[in-house]
Amino acid sequence: MICQNDNHLTQLVNKAKTLTKNGKVADYIPALAEANKADLSIAIYSVEGACLKAGEVQTTFTLQSISKVLSLALVLMDHGQEYVFNRVGMEPTGDPFNSIAKLETIKPSKPLNPMINAGALAVTNMIKGKTKDEKIERLLAFIQTLTNNSSVSVCERVARSEFNHAWLNRSMCYFLKEHGIIEGDVEALMEVYTKQCAIEMNCYDLAKIGAVLALNGVHPDTKEQVIPERIARLCKTFMVTCGMYNASGEFAIKVGIPAKSGVAGGILAIVPNKYGIGVYGPALDERGNSIAGCKLLEMISEEHSLSIF
Ligand code: GLU
Repeated sequence: MICQNDNHLTQLVNKAKTLTKNGKVADYIPALAEANKADLSIAIYSVEGACLKAGEVQTTFTLQSISKVLSLALVLMDHGQEYVFNRVGMEPTGDPFNSIAKLETIKPSKPLNPMINAGALAVTNMIKGKTKDEKIERLLAFIQTLTNNSSVSVCERVARSEFNHAWLNRSMCYFLKEHGIIEGDVEALMEVYTKQCAIEMNCYDLAKIGAVLALNGVHPDTKEQVIPERIARLCKTFMVTCGMYNASGEFAIKVGIPAKSGVAGGILAIVPNKYGIGVYGPALDERGNSIAGCKLLEMISEEHSLSIF
């Protein structure tokens, strides 16, 4: 097991924690602005089922953009690759996650990848279900299977707060509707998407999701194939190329493992065949990634030569 024990991991957390003062919690919606900037926690779940933890591991946070990996896995299971990639691309972008710019310059218009908001909205629109409630329930049930924890749920307060402020995401939806990428009612899609982003858990649950992906879709607890291998690999590939917003290149150089961050401060990281890692640190750098979380992963990766490259 890496990091020898919880004590050593705690030392690394305390070291990385000094960076939190240089970051800023997300304040684009009131419910996220309440986070405690100094928090930093990590769980490392080995595929054999052992777990190292440090920091306030019980603190819960909303997945935000991390959910984009999981909705992608679900729609690929729902529809297959051809259907999904006819509507969303596979290329990274150097633009911020919520940029609308490339939608107009790329012909025919199609979001560049499923990790930026435009692509993620198109993906969420593809979740199978007769009603908006059925769609979010299916996604939540899938995530409960991955975490092996049926108490994982939607934080309605964060979902509502985001729903009431998501003007840019709404405008992207209307643009995508104009170009035939999404269909149906935009308000219903916004409800599913904001609830998806507001799915809440702690970094132990997140680490377990990482362990499933580390095992290419096999659940470490139940040994069941809960995501087809090809889809698990594909999700990890997107995490490497686009998972850390427009800092994905730098993260690949400094840390070198598949990872996906969210604006609430979570990071889901994977050491293939070995570990799932969940990190929470709400102080963000200027590109929207957990400032201390990235440093912590960099230190662990360096110490244990975890880079896949
Ligand atoms: N709910 C956020 C949004 O769509 C997610 C952003 C993020 O975590 O990057 O704006």
